Amino acid sequence: MPDSNEAIDAIREAVELSPQNLALRLHLANLYLNSGKAIEAEKQFRAALTMAPQDAAIKLGLARSYFAQGKTSPAVVIVEELLQNKDVSSGVFLLHARLLLEEGDIRRAVRQYKRAADAEPPSTDETLAEKLGIPLSADDEPDDDDDELFEGRLRIARDGEPSRSPVPTEIERPKISFADVGGMESLKDEVRAKIIHPLSHPELYQAYGKAVGGGILMYGPPGCGKTYLARATAGEIKSNFISVGISQVLDMWIGSSERNLHEMFEQARQNKPCVLFFDEVDALAASRSDMRTSAGRQIINQFLAELDGIQSSNDGVLILAATNAPWHLDSAFRRPGRFDRIIFVPPPDRAARAEILQILCRNKPQGDIDFNHLAGKVENFSGADLKAIVDLAVEAKLQDAVKLGGVQPLTTKDLVAAAARVKPSTREWFSTAKNYALYSNQGGTYDDILKYLKI
Ligand code: ATP
Repeated sequence: MPDSNEAIDAIREAVELSPQNLALRLHLANLYLNSGKAIEAEKQFRAALTMAPQDAAIKLGLARSYFAQGKTSPAVVIVEELLQNKDVSSGVFLLHARLLLEEGDIRRAVRQYKRAADAEPPSTDETLAEKLGIPLSADDEPDDDDDELFEGRLRIARDGEPSRSPVPTEIERPKISFADVGGMESLKDEVRAKIIHPLSHPELYQAYGKAVGGGILMYGPPGCGKTYLARATAGEIKSNFISVGISQVLDMWIGSSERNLHEMFEQARQNKPCVLFFDEVDALAASRSDMRTSAGRQIINQFLAELDGIQSSNDGVLILAATNAPWHLDSAFRRPGRFDRIIFVPPPDRAARAEILQILCRNKPQGDIDFNHLAGKVENFSGADLKAIVDLAVEAKLQDAVKLGGVQPLTTKDLVAAAARVKPSTREWFSTAKNYALYSNQGGTYDDILKYLKI
């Protein structure tokens, strides 16, 4: 559009003539941003920040420029900093909602969108609202039947709503043990020392006055075996296994989330020995920052009380938890007796990759497979990525077998060909994690990430 380009050119020339005129520069930055010139906008916001380094609106502008360029990690870092401020503008909430949607965290995205829309002055975005399944007007409010589809498939607390039945819990008896988990040796040792040995030799621990209890929190990129290891821990000691997705608990009406949590701990206590595994524990922290309601705080308190075994003993209940975003977790979780062991679960190294591939190919028709060679070709691949490779190779082999009318064994070549079709998925996580490890690494919690990245 020549008109808007001309207007931008005129303002740019004015800025060049008076480079210290902050208002003018911001006007230019916003014009750039609104006309899709995010790189130019970034430059202007950066220059403006040198004049007013603490200005929240400029920081937000910079974050929006990053977001518009697809640079989500720096955008997240800035937005999270802005969210710590006393007065948070609606624009910050709106950008946060967009970032959360990108991360796939619809539940929190809905919450932040609502804050943006409720703020004075409000910030809204119809396209975003639609993606989140948020009704644009009161007429669109759902009736009871489509509750499930309401607000990004969420149920959000509303006053006076009846409480729902607890989340159904499935009790498993896993068949896999540590022998089925490739690599992760130090983590296996940690689990043995911290939770398996105290369970099998309680008298020894008592004799030496060593406190028993607390859990292990695993963090790291997705697909690297956190859930798998938790399940194998239960298989290792032939115990029951309960897996709880925290957002599953929180998706129920908030008023009854505490009861749901309590129910789950009770189920584990009644079925001991039992490994109780919590996935996405960071979702609890997210609920606490929801200042509109004290419910978030109550859920955390309930969780901590259950962990501490205040009402009922957790003897025979082994607690493991996992998260991709440990930085969102409240420090109260890390106190002794709670998750006092926080362990980084990195992508598998070459030896572990070879072992995982070997495990995944077990019981399949095998020809000559050089697992070590293959492992060298799949750096940065998670366990889940390796599984995808084996699945693809098996699928292709099966097609051949059907065509040729007989079992065709898997070979290195098949697996290498399949590997070329799968992208490693762990890099993205590290680009976010690096920022936290560099800039909010209190007490060296994330030193393992820096070590892994050789920083
Ligand atoms: P998320 O953070 O996304 O929940 P996760 O770290 O819990 O991921 P898992 O679900 O445990 O990852 O791993 C995905 C799949 O990858 C497992 O079901 C398993 O098949 C395979 N896998 C991952 N790590 C290993 C491993 N060390 N040994 C054998 N298989 C593995």
